Amino acid sequence: MEENVNEMRTDSLSYGSDYHYLPVTSLESGDVHEVAPDVAGYTVQIVNVCFIGKPNEADWVLIDAGMPGSAEAIIASAELRYGSQNKPKGIILTHGHFDHVGAIIELVRHWQVPVYAHSLEIPYLSGRQSYPEPDSSVDAGLVAKLSPLFPIRPIQLGEYIHPLPDDGSVPFLPDWKWLHTPGHTPGHISLFRSDDRVLIAGDAFVTVKQESLYKVFTQEIELNGPPKYLTTDWELAHQSVRKLEALKPSSVITGHGMPMKDDELASQLSRLADHFSEIAVPRQGKYIH
Ligand SMILES: [Zn+2]
Ligand SMILES: [Zn+2]
Repeated sequence: MEENVNEMRTDSLSYGSDYHYLPVTSLESGDVHEVAPDVAGYTVQIVNVCFIGKPNEADWVLIDAGMPGSAEAIIASAELRYGSQNKPKGIILTHGHFDHVGAIIELVRHWQVPVYAHSLEIPYLSGRQSYPEPDSSVDAGLVAKLSPLFPIRPIQLGEYIHPLPDDGSVPFLPDWKWLHTPGHTPGHISLFRSDDRVLIAGDAFVTVKQESLYKVFTQEIELNGPPKYLTTDWELAHQSVRKLEALKPSSVITGHGMPMKDDELASQLSRLADHFSEIAVPRQGKYIH
């Protein structure tokens, strides 16, 4: 079916009706951080996308799709790394929140490549279901307070969106596995390569206090649970952190914040797994029971 992807129509693709640009950024915006020769995070304002594949080679995959309005920046960074002739084989989404699909439609139109997500995430990516409303009461930080402005309505990726294979394999990336890490969203996934234990965690946990505009701007490193204002199932979120901690990752790129590795990652991740309710779970909020 991917053979015919070039002939598919892109004019029926659309963002949700509440889609809009968000004027928030960080000091790292525009920077590329490698955690392995073929794995790099690229910061788009306040969120990271990942490039997987050796520079200047044709076999590469994009993980996530940045902030609204960031397609040109992502394409320019991809062309710098892989050359303008080498488009990605496909795009894998950790989940469908607006800051991870913000440029997806322009990217699909530009590259004409398939997009993959967990089957439980597809309703949000095929025009069927909105995400629950963000909860601004979870934290005093300014990003939390801004969260009611975040787009939550479903986008429409039409024939371009596909469910990930059930066996944990990742299309185009034979050395990688995907793991279901729900809690932040129902179909949230993380990606792991056992050879060098590189982890791409999405928003299962992040390395910045994402609720604070100041800490997001400076990207001060601090391992935290998933962004609080958009997380709806804290028990599942805790189980997902335990699952990722058990992998003993050597380095991680998270959806928000700078990469982390080695002893710092090991100690902070085991502390988060052991003290999740104190570190990660908000004191109050509409998704706390
Ligand atoms: Zn998210
Ligand atoms: Zn996010």
